[in-house]
Amino acid sequence: MNSKISSIVVVGGGTAGWLTAARLAFDHCAADAQGLSVTLIESPDVGPIGVGEGSWPTLRMTLREIGVSEFEFIRACDASFKQASKFVGWRTGDSLDSYYHPFMPPAGAMSIDVNRAWLKHQPERPFAYSVSAQAQLCEAGLAPKQSQTPEYAAFSNYGYHLDAGKFGEFLKRHCIDKLGVKYVQDHITHVNTHVEAHGKDSTDGAIKSLGCRETGDLAGDLFIDCSGGAGLLIDKHFKAPFVDRRDVLFNNAAMAVQVPYDTPEQDIASATISTAQSAGWIWDIGLQSRRGLGYVYSDAHTTKEQVWDALKSYIQNTSSVDIDSLKPRDLSFRPGYRTTPWVKNCVAVGMSAGFIEPLEASAIAMVEISSKTISNELPATVDAMEIVAKRFNARFVQRWESIIDFLKLHYWLSDRDDSAYWRDNKSVETLPDQLRDLLELWKYQIPSTADFQHILELFGPPSYQYVLYGMGYKPQARVTTSRRDNDEMARRNFQEIDATLKKGLRGLPSNRSLLNAITKVETL
Ligand SMILES: Cc1cc2nc3c(=O)[nH]c(=O)nc-3n(C[C@H](O)[C@H](O)[C@H](O)COP(=O)(O)OP(=O)(O)OC[C@H]3O[C@@H](n4cnc5c(N)ncnc54)[C@H](O)[C@@H]3O)c2cc1C
Repeated sequence: MNSKISSIVVVGGGTAGWLTAARLAFDHCAADAQGLSVTLIESPDVGPIGVGEGSWPTLRMTLREIGVSEFEFIRACDASFKQASKFVGWRTGDSLDSYYHPFMPPAGAMSIDVNRAWLKHQPERPFAYSVSAQAQLCEAGLAPKQSQTPEYAAFSNYGYHLDAGKFGEFLKRHCIDKLGVKYVQDHITHVNTHVEAHGKDSTDGAIKSLGCRETGDLAGDLFIDCSGGAGLLIDKHFKAPFVDRRDVLFNNAAMAVQVPYDTPEQDIASATISTAQSAGWIWDIGLQSRRGLGYVYSDAHTTKEQVWDALKSYIQNTSSVDIDSLKPRDLSFRPGYRTTPWVKNCVAVGMSAGFIEPLEASAIAMVEISSKTISNELPATVDAMEIVAKRFNARFVQRWESIIDFLKLHYWLSDRDDSAYWRDNKSVETLPDQLRDLLELWKYQIPSTADFQHILELFGPPSYQYVLYGMGYKPQARVTTSRRDNDEMARRNFQEIDATLKKGLRGLPSNRSLLNAITKVETL
């Protein structure tokens, strides 16, 4: 059997479904008669999860690659610019305790050892301020570019904050109107397999079609399961094993709420603000028309009442909104991932493949990487499916584990012991082996690419450096001299960072002004 793969069915119309459909349809010319056929089906009964407002600079690349106009996207999705995550209260719990994890890597790292330059020459300055201008540009509430800067170009690297519901609708229109994606709205009730049809050939047990309530059977060669928590194909049909990582990262619930601005011209933060709480943390994301807030927590360490009290108090400190007018929403999730997201002719992408709490907003980035990998490695025939799937699965297990390591770092380095949550987070049995070894190594040296087994990491050495040193972890000073410890070059590097900062402070508009300028263009 050597049947060609010419039609793909994407199950689910949330962020994962539409992004994956867009990637496959664009890359494989679904709008052309000879292109791949891409169909997306979503249930009229089950809505998308509707959260997921923080993204990475990868999304900027993805949107450009699939032919989206950036300004149209910004206008349609209430989007704003995100340049960093700002962590407040993670180290000691003190209100002055904060640090940045910006998107720009440390400047000058190709020629000098910027980490040692910081330790030697500016040990009292926050690491992120010493090695990059971006954290201070964020602190000043500035945009990553000017109003005349072309779409997707930038002064400093950025991703977006966006309204998840509007984003899904925007991608849907783009997919259907411009990329040739066929759309079916129907509820899938069962799965039909190839078993009886093909005996023992390579499609044994593979999905033949999806039984839909109104429209009958929907056939395809490859099925992408973007059905979110339902895990319709990967879980309910294939029962792919799920690794629960609550033993390492405790958060499994969230309470989310939308908060209006006090005035229409209120500043919009250029970073996601993540403020540590006694049983988790609160995200604070500024969109054009409102803020999106949420307390992510471990339900073993607190109650919904306590969570709402903490959220109310956070809101009252940052807004004059009438608390009683707000409608908080409860969400729960199981932190973990599937070890075989690709089974037979089905690949899980998005929440159906796994989800670890949103601390570094890596879920949409994982969707982007998954869909790009599927698109790049799309098997030509069913025969090639098994080996492609095997490699895909191995790489994604590594990715999930590397996300878990990086997120755990934020908790492990904390000095907080004001609640059972923080104390439990420091218990040695919750520390993954690889992270334990790396932390030992990093007592003596700076994180480098050589420390990671492969180059697939979502979080590379710069991310580790920002969090390690932001949280006060300092490596030993080197005893011997290295050519990369060059005082003169370090001085020049600091001067260049200062010059970039001055240029940015002088020339960049505020996040709000740039968004006003972009949204006004439409009406000119
Ligand atoms: C509290 C919280 C905060 C988050 N914050 C972030 C963040 O800041 N950044 C980030 O990157 N990610 C974040 N995420 C994750 C992000 O929300 C998801 O990764 C993203 O929305 C993708 O979801 P999805 O498309 O996989 O699933 P969903 O949005 O749940 O979509 C599921 C789809 O499947 C369809 N479906 C289900 N059953 C059937 C059926 N029987 N027949 C037909 N269709 C069906 C539904 O109709 C729906 O369209 C967060 C998640 C949570 C829980």
